[in-house]
Amino acid sequence: MIIQLDVCENPEGFSGQIAADNVAAIWELLEQVKDPEIPVLSLRDLGVLRNVENSAGKIVVTITPTYSGCPALDVMQEDISKVLTANGIVDVEVKTVLSPAWTTDWISTEGKQKLEKFGIAPPAGATLANRPERCPLCASSATSLISEYGSTACKAMYQCDDCKESFCYFKVI
Ligand SMILES: [Zn+2]
Repeated sequence: MIIQLDVCENPEGFSGQIAADNVAAIWELLEQVKDPEIPVLSLRDLGVLRNVENSAGKIVVTITPTYSGCPALDVMQEDISKVLTANGIVDVEVKTVLSPAWTTDWISTEGKQKLEKFGIAPPAGATLANRPERCPLCASSATSLISEYGSTACKAMYQCDDCKESFCYFKVI
């Protein structure tokens, strides 16, 4: 990715790599910030990254965590600040907005594809039954629930009736 060099109007005279008001470039940069629990997904893929705006020279990033009280929240805020600071944007505020609550519908199509490639069945569409549409390994639609709770609160464990592999399902919430 090529980022346009521009003068950064930071009071400390820091000459940043990207212009602090280049909101589109900041969205691109934030693609680097991954979900602490599912490192194949960026916060952008997840729909956790809600907004980026330039408020009188300060970059305000708004996020909605996947569920409230999520211990990963501090990590996400820190990662966002780190990525922006490393690119010359130092006046950053990361705002957390809990309402409206995050839902799995906010995961992008690309995000769902990445989940499946990673071996996690993506959440079904809101109008479908809350179960995996297919096994992420062999694409069989014959799957059985093993446990309502997987490695994190948002997943359930399923087993494929065909290839017999067990896998995580990212539950619709
Ligand atoms: Zn299978």
